[in-house]
Formats: sequence, C-alpha cells, structure tokens
Amino acid sequence: KTRVYTFGNKKADGNSSMRNLLGGKGANLAEMSAIGIPVPPGFTITTEVCTEYNLLGKDEVIQLIKREVELAVAKIEKTMNTKFGDAKNPLLLSVRSGARVSMPGMMDTVLNLGLNDDVVEGLAKKTKNERFAWDSYRRFVQMYGGVVMGVKAINKEDIDPFEEIIENLKEKRGITLDTEFTVQDLKDLVFDFKKSIYRRIGKEFPSDPWDQLWLAVMAVFDSWNGKRAVYYRNMHGYPADWGTAVNVQAMVFGNMGENSGTGVCFTRDAGSGENLFNGEYLINAQGEDVVAGVRTPQQITKIGSQRWAELAQITEKERKNSYPSLEEVMPEIFKELNGYQQILEKHYRDMQDMEFTIQEGKLWILQTRNGKRTGAAMVKIAIDLLSQGLISEEEALLRIEPNKLDELLHPIFDPAALKKAHVIAQGLPASPGAATGQLVFFAEDASKFKYSILTRIETSPEDLEGMNLAKGILTARGGMTSHAAVVARGMGKCCVSGAGALKINYKTKTMWVEGKEYHEGDWISINGSTGNIIEGKVATVEPELTGEFAKIMELSDKYSSMKVRTNADTPQDAKVARNFGATGIGLTRTEHMFFEVDRIKAMREMILADTVKGRKQALAKLLPMQREDFEGIFEAMEGLPVTIRLLDPPLHEFVPHQLATLRELADEMHVSLESVKIKVADLEEFNPMLGHRGCRLGNTYPEITEMQTRAIIEAALNLKQRGIETKPEIMVPLVGTFDEFVAQETIIRDTAEAIFKERKDKIEYFVGTMIEIPRAALMADKIAKRADFFSFGTNDLTQMTFGYSRDDAGKFLPIYLEQGILKHDPFEVLDQEGVGQLVTMGTQRGRSTNPKLKVGICGEHGGEPSSVEFCYNNGLDYVSCSPFRVPIARVASAQAAI
Ligand code: ADP
Ligand code: MG
Ligand code: MG
Repeated sequence: KTRVYTFGNKKADGNSSMRNLLGGKGANLAEMSAIGIPVPPGFTITTEVCTEYNLLGKDEVIQLIKREVELAVAKIEKTMNTKFGDAKNPLLLSVRSGARVSMPGMMDTVLNLGLNDDVVEGLAKKTKNERFAWDSYRRFVQMYGGVVMGVKAINKEDIDPFEEIIENLKEKRGITLDTEFTVQDLKDLVFDFKKSIYRRIGKEFPSDPWDQLWLAVMAVFDSWNGKRAVYYRNMHGYPADWGTAVNVQAMVFGNMGENSGTGVCFTRDAGSGENLFNGEYLINAQGEDVVAGVRTPQQITKIGSQRWAELAQITEKERKNSYPSLEEVMPEIFKELNGYQQILEKHYRDMQDMEFTIQEGKLWILQTRNGKRTGAAMVKIAIDLLSQGLISEEEALLRIEPNKLDELLHPIFDPAALKKAHVIAQGLPASPGAATGQLVFFAEDASKFKYSILTRIETSPEDLEGMNLAKGILTARGGMTSHAAVVARGMGKCCVSGAGALKINYKTKTMWVEGKEYHEGDWISINGSTGNIIEGKVATVEPELTGEFAKIMELSDKYSSMKVRTNADTPQDAKVARNFGATGIGLTRTEHMFFEVDRIKAMREMILADTVKGRKQALAKLLPMQREDFEGIFEAMEGLPVTIRLLDPPLHEFVPHQLATLRELADEMHVSLESVKIKVADLEEFNPMLGHRGCRLGNTYPEITEMQTRAIIEAALNLKQRGIETKPEIMVPLVGTFDEFVAQETIIRDTAEAIFKERKDKIEYFVGTMIEIPRAALMADKIAKRADFFSFGTNDLTQMTFGYSRDDAGKFLPIYLEQGILKHDPFEVLDQEGVGQLVTMGTQRGRSTNPKLKVGICGEHGGEPSSVEFCYNNGLDYVSCSPFRVPIARVASAQAAI
C-alpha cells in the first residue's frame, strides 16, 4: 500500500480525482503538477495514514511511513538542489493540512520548517540576504510555537502571545509595519519567542529538522480531532473516519525582497460572478500576509486596481505610486499568472480560487480550488459556463446550491452604505433581506409610518396583520423557529430574532441597547441575512431577478418531474408564488383570514356562542368574507389546483385576554362580562396542541365545516360564471382515524351537493386529508379508500412523532444540536430516518388502495432541499412551500431528478 504520493517537476503520483485519499489540496497540487503548472515539489501523506495514526499512535505510524517520507524528501532535495537540515544549502519545507473538503480555520500551516540557529546563518550566507533569513526564522518559530507546540491565546479576548511580543517591540521601536524590523529586531523576536514558549510550556524549541517535521505531521493529524475541527465536522455531518492528509512541500519565498511577493486570486468575481480575473497581492510578503491584513494589499489587474481606488477615494496618481497593480509592476509575471488562471478554470470547469508566490521573479502556484461565491455569483457563473460550452445543462443545475437562491429574492442593503453603518446589536438572521424603517412596538402601530420596523419581545398570531404591514420584524426573544421567524420567512419579510441585547419597555414605547435609548419613530435598520441591527437609515436596493436566474428556473422545470406548489393564505402571496413559478397552492390556512379586525369579532362571537343557533348566526357573518377571500385566491391561481385546509387551531387562540377587549365583546354580544369571562376560561386547555383542534372542531361543531365548504364551493361557482377555471381541494386537518375523516367528508360532500342543487350548477372538487398524526400514516390504506389526496403536514407529524412541542422545543433543541444528540433541527430538515418512514409508509399504503391518490407535503420541509429530494425519491406528486422558497424547491426537485 502506498502511503506517500509525490508531486513536482511536471509529474505526480496522484490526480484530482483522488481527493478522498489525498485531500482536496493534495489532489489539486498533484493535478496541477501533472498538467505543467509550476508547483513547488512535495508529497502528500494520505488520509488513510491519519486513520492509522488514530488507531496505532505516533511511533508505529512513523515506522509505517518513515522510509516513504525519507525517499520523498530526497526527491524534493534532488529537484531543488538543496538538502534538508544542511546548514550550508538548506531545504525548507511547508507542512499543510488538507481534508477532502476545505475546512477553513481547522489547522494552520507551518512555513519555513527546517530552520534552526545554524541553518538560519547558512541560509543568510547562501542568499546573501540576512534579513530574509531571520524574517523566515521568526515566522517559523511563531507558527510552529502556535500550531505544533500549542502556545496560543487561551481566551478569545486575549491577544496571541507572539503578537503581543511583536506589538511591544513595534511600540518600543516606534514603527508600525513588519517590514520595518531590522535584522537585530528579528533576532530579538526569535529569542523572545523561544523564551516565551519555554516559560509557558516548559519545553525547548526543537532544533533538529527531522524532529520538527515529524512533530508537525503528527500535529496535523491531531488537529483532525481538535475541538474546532470536530465542531465543524459535526456541523456539516462529515464522518470522523475521513481523516486529513498532510502536504509537505518545498518552500518558495515571497519575502526575499522587492522582486518577490505573494497573493490570492479568483478567475471570476466571487461577489457578482462577473467574468473578470481579480485578486490581491503584496510585495515582499509570505503566507497569509495578504489575508491577515498586515499591510493594505494591492490589486492584481489594472482595472481592479482602478475600481478599488475609486471606492477607497484615492487619486490615480496616488494609486500608481503607492498601490500599483501586479499587471503594472510585473507585467511578465502577470501575463504568466493570467495564462495559468485561464488554463485552470478551463481544466476544472469552474471558478477557481488560487494562491501564488513570486520568488525573485519566478512565479509558483501553491493552491487551486473551486471558489466560494455569493448566491448571485453562483447563478451567473453557472449560466455563463453553460453558454461558454464548458458545462452541460445538468451540470449547471447541479452547480446551484438551492438555499443560496434565497439571497437573490429579497431587497438588499447597498454595499457602499453598509460600510458606513453603525451596528448596535446582533440577533439571529431569521429571515434574509434588508429593512430600514421607524421603530414601533405594537402591531397596531405598524401603519403609523410608511416604513416601520415592528420590534417586540416576541410576536404572537395576533400580531400578524402588523407584521404584514411592517417592513421588517425584530424580536428580543425567540430562535430561528420562533413565531416571528417562521411567519417572516413565509412572508419573505426581513426578520432578526432573539437579539438579547434589546431591552424593550412597552409602557414607554422605548428600547434600550447598550445604555442608549431609542423611541418609537426612531429610524433603525436590520439585516436579516447577518442578524445585524443598525442605527439609522441604510439605503437598500431591490434585487434584480436577472436573465440568468430566469434561465436556471427554466432549466429546472425542464429536468424535474415533481411539481412545486406554495403555501399561501392571501391573493397577494399567491401572486408572488405564481411569479416564482408555483404550480398551485398546497396549503391555504383559513384561520389566518380570521385575524383581521372586523372578522375577529364575528369569529369571537361564534366561539363564545352558547347555542348552535348563536354559532350559526355568527358563522353567517363570516361566510361572505371567506367566500370573498377564496375568490381572490382562486382568481390569482386561475386554472391551478388550490388546497384549502379547514379550520385547524384551538379556538382559544382567537379570544382576547385583556379586560378592556373582553368588556367590549360582552357589550357587543349583549351578555354580561362575567359570562364572557367564564366562557373564555372554559376554553383554556392543558395542552392545546393535542386538544380541541383540527377536525375535532369540525366534528363537534359541524356548522363550521358547513360554512367553510359553502364559502369554497360558492366562490368556485361564482368564478365559473365569470369564466375562470378553479380546482378546489378541500383538506381535513389532524385526522387520526378513518371515521373522523369520513364524518368530515360526509359533511363536505352533502353541503356541496346541496349547493349544486340550489345553484343548478356544479364544479369538480376534491376532498382529502392531511397526514400529520402518526396513526393516520399507519392507517393510510384505509383512509385512502375515501380520500382523493394526502398532504403530509410534516410540522405536526414531526412534533407528534418526536413528542417535541414546537413551542417549547427552544429550551432543549439548541443544546441537543450543540451536543450533537441531534444532527439537524427536525423542524427544519425532515428526519428522513424516523419521520420519513411514516411518509414512505403512508404514501405506499395510501396508493395500495387508491392508485390515483395525489400525494404532497406542505410542512416547512417542502422548501428544504434535502427534504425535497427525499419527497422525490418517495414518488410524491408535489411539494408545497412558502412563496419565497418556491425557486429553491424547483431547483432541488430538478437536482433530485438528475
Ligand atoms: P489554508 O488551507 O489555510 O489555505 P495553506 O496550506 O494553503 O493553508 O497555506 C497557507 C499559506 O501558506 C498559503 O496561502 C501560502 O501563501 C503559504 N504557503 C504554503 N505552502 C507554501 C510553500 N511551499 N511555499 C511558500 N508559501 C507557502
Ligand atoms: Mg490555502
Ligand atoms: Mg397541522
């Protein structure tokens, strides 16, 4: 078995397809070397050795790979014509980690390995560059001390011990830049660093180059099981047995003077996707100096440099003198680099993120990988590569990370304005987008200003209308699945939730943040993509759903067979979703319509009525309102199926609890305050989620089902008269037994037949049920005999299968996720292993007795890509999700089919 793969000199043992064995970095170094890109020679110790190390320990693993490593080092020595550990003509090495997937910040690199007090003198003599030799040595001791010997800041607030020494010396010498250190300064730093290491851990800095190398290799292996890496792995679900590879490579030096340097570059713009080579570099610098911001980096291309100068408000003259582009400073090197970036992008057929170093006028490429990018860039690059003929339509679709599309659909802050913004607090990025408006603290006040930000400790269903009117929603409490967050996402409205630093006083309509008071009417801005809360106004720009976006949507439909519907409660939502390509409504929640001011009164009358007659009177008031709602929705979805769910929530959600409102209500109903109070108290339940709700309402108060059916059927008949085609699907919620469903179905069909007789006209309609109680999934074959369709209500189904109350899960879910007891929030990502079984079983059993059964899903999961894929694999006819997730589900559905 080969454990060490060499590369360099236009040859390589490995290639880019071997990323599992060599890690991403190693595989690409091998590939680049093989296609003739100048890569410093080196070798990769495989990820399998990492696994062996975890089993066998250090000594045995060294025995296993010793010979191969020695041969590989000898190969580098031969190519570079230097010798590792030789004081006269030393070879220095870099030791770099590299897992299959890039894991930023998991493990730092060690550069300049092989230096000691003798070698540094030899290097100085050989290069006739004492400053360079000592600069490399101090970098080495600093990196090795931190990464391998573990000397670093203990707390996040503490400053890195080496940085502290550097800062102190700078202060003493009255300088600001690393480049200003003298040779003596650098020598002092090396001495002080070593002293500090010894003081902290009581160990001498190893001077033998081979000791240095072995310890560094083992440190990379150890880092795979380090705290940071484990956390990152768990977050992304990467298994522990993947391991990391170790890349050992000859050093090339960007810190040898004015004709040396280092930089990073992208083959296209990672922000906009524009096909423009760009990047940054620094002269006389090494490693991550560019990224670390030790000096202001300069632009690679002249165009980029000029654009940058404009933003930084620097004159062209100043730019040319102080920040010239690589294109201007080293035109030959630039030409070579530009050639490589073109070759690499063509070769990998994707935007590349590259690292390079120039050593005394010679260019070396140190890394290439597929570049990270924004949602906008992702879409543009995929379509551009497709039209350039570099990738196929299927590949273009697979290049889309569906969730990232969300970024494109909401208004965004003007990036220029954001630079000057004053962030006052941080919350959770609950619903993406950007909103600027005036502070209000009550839903009723949302209409006071044209642009308002509804700011609450938390929101409740009663705030719905105000939330709809506000530009954005901000809460002090509640997580990513809190009421505010879920509703805002559904509305596609910007929301920041759980900003604990906000102290809200409803009485005085004020808010305290870090000792500063804000009043109703004060301007504030919130960024739902980052969770930032910003003082004052920040300009926003509407997103442009560009040609490329439309093209991706068009392609998605070409490749997907599963339909995407939307969850929509208003004609407005329905229109938005239709524009995003929804092919129907999978869920209309009728109760949301009852929260509007005039309706809630009639609704409360109905709930508090003592007799069937009283209830019917109140329902008669609601009928025309509901009918009108349905007409609006049907019209917006002309010709497409619309699933309407009958009343679902427990009734107490509709009744007021404040005394003043109770009194008002009593007056209106001509009854005593006392009797209203008693009735309200009567509605209290110990566990409303499992209480008197769903079809249990319709079965105990059949007149509610009758009224709602009438509203639906009459609306459809009215539209028919106007020549508008409708496809109503009436959905019974929370069914657990066959008879429960049949009882409701009978009421619905009888009512419909009666109306058809009255009107001497008829329409086609379906009656089906939600599958959201585990028992219904088990009994699906029986229920399907009478149902036209099933819709998996995976929110309740998850809640009941796990036995987690959605409203209380905030207390333990975050901890479960942190401890890894749960991999994902099951309310966000469908639990395929458990809850998924019920979906699979329910679908199969249902279709076994009713082959024509239409099956869909309408929980939050309908817009979550991995859940969409699961639905496709289980043969569902459609998924239904909130309007703003429709494009995401369309792409996910196509990807599942490819
Ligand atoms: P990361 O995975 O964090 O990007 P790298 O292994 O790419 O870490 O190393 C970080 C930086 O160290 C590189 O960008 C490069 O500038 C520098 N570096 C790594 N290996 C060498 C080398 N052989 N010669 C010169 N510089 C190197
Ligand atoms: Mg790198
Ligand atoms: Mg439900």
